[in-house]
Amino acid sequence: MPAVEKPIPTISIGVVGHVDHGKTTLVQALTGVWTARYSEELKKSMTIYLGYAQTSIFRCNNLKPPDSYITSPGSCGENSQPEYVKTVSFVDAPGHEILMATMLSGASLMDAAIVVIAANEPCPQPQTREHVKALEILGINQVVIAQNKVDVVPREKVLENYKQIKQFLESTPYSNAPIIPVSALHKANIGAIAMAIAKLFKEPERVLGKPAIMQIARSFDVNLPGTRPEMLVGGVVGGGVIRGEIRVGDEVEIKPGVRIEVKGKVKYEPLTTEVVSIRYADVESDFARPGGLVAIGTKLDPSLTKNNRLAGQVLGHSVPDPVNDISIEYRMLDKIVGARELEAPPQLKSGERVLLIIGTANASAVVQRVTSDEMEVKTDNPVVVLEKSKVAILSKVKGRWRLIGWGIAR
Ligand code: GDP
Ligand code: 5GP
Repeated sequence: MPAVEKPIPTISIGVVGHVDHGKTTLVQALTGVWTARYSEELKKSMTIYLGYAQTSIFRCNNLKPPDSYITSPGSCGENSQPEYVKTVSFVDAPGHEILMATMLSGASLMDAAIVVIAANEPCPQPQTREHVKALEILGINQVVIAQNKVDVVPREKVLENYKQIKQFLESTPYSNAPIIPVSALHKANIGAIAMAIAKLFKEPERVLGKPAIMQIARSFDVNLPGTRPEMLVGGVVGGGVIRGEIRVGDEVEIKPGVRIEVKGKVKYEPLTTEVVSIRYADVESDFARPGGLVAIGTKLDPSLTKNNRLAGQVLGHSVPDPVNDISIEYRMLDKIVGARELEAPPQLKSGERVLLIIGTANASAVVQRVTSDEMEVKTDNPVVVLEKSKVAILSKVKGRWRLIGWGIAR
């Protein structure tokens, strides 16, 4: 390993696209980690929660680009001194149509994205369209396309599919995104993806001098069954810091917190705890900053963080109080892009139920009042809304939650 004191990620890259197009396989080819690790996910052969993994990129001075860009320093060969380029996190978003809300909560953590499109299916498939629309809505403008599975179709089909991808991109803000043919399964041309990450994806400007805010994407009880009580480790939360810096020893709050019932009334009590450890994959760190996905170890009772119980919540030095009433300045999409047939979204009416994605939180809500560009909603459960938060709006259309619009919370 070249001299890098601590390879800590500086950017989070979403890996998005239609189900089975090879997102998890591509993340594995880049990082060595199969992100669908959890038994329930494995049983259903689907990524259900957001998967995440990280890798460092190196450049070998004895190879020509793109092969000179590698993610394992050993693969340069004996006579090369690999040069460290950067470390990145991947957010592996599920591509199944019923998991659009999960994809959107992951998209709130992405600084850039790789859209995986399989060469052996016509392009665009519905969730290719829907994920690309989500990137557009959330303002993610650094995008590359991995045209995957080029090993399973003949060369003419690859070219035909390339043209379809190009044509599809013309209708999006990503008409100039590079399209890189790969076989994630056979690790072919992965160097070109590593090179694109190294050269094209830039770290956005970060805000460090403010109280920290972190969006929680997952939460864990990391103790193995049967661990002796005195050996138990506190709850761990994973996600992305969006501003400020969190350090070991800091006191932090998590909101909305835990749901409690007092005399038949439900309320949420914020949690306050101390940060005892900070980890980027296997790398222990003294601090967590924007860029990359981080796991924060706390003194919380691990039963509070078990099974993603705190996913969608916000951790920080000073977290705004959660609310139920939200006012949103919104726009509808011209078409529902996530279904096979493209149709106009339904007109929103008061009394209607919508699903809102705000940061990593999914909030079921009822529309109270609506005009052509503003709506007021009441969420079932309180949600932390940061100033000028983007809100993705989903509505149930023919039994499925579909992305129908987006807005800014006020
Ligand atoms: P995801 O749902 O997009 O994460 O897709 P997966 O990574 O789980 O891949 C779906 C299936 O496609 C798996 O059986 C993979 O082994 C297979 N697959 C992924 N990439 C390739 C590839 O480049 N070539 C071939 N032949 N199969 C692939
Ligand atoms: P797992 O349950 O898969 O071992 O770990 C789940 C997540 O928690 C991983 O992201 C892992 O890096 C993180 N993690 C595990 N143990 C600790 C710990 O003691 N401190 C911190 N900060 N993170 C941890």
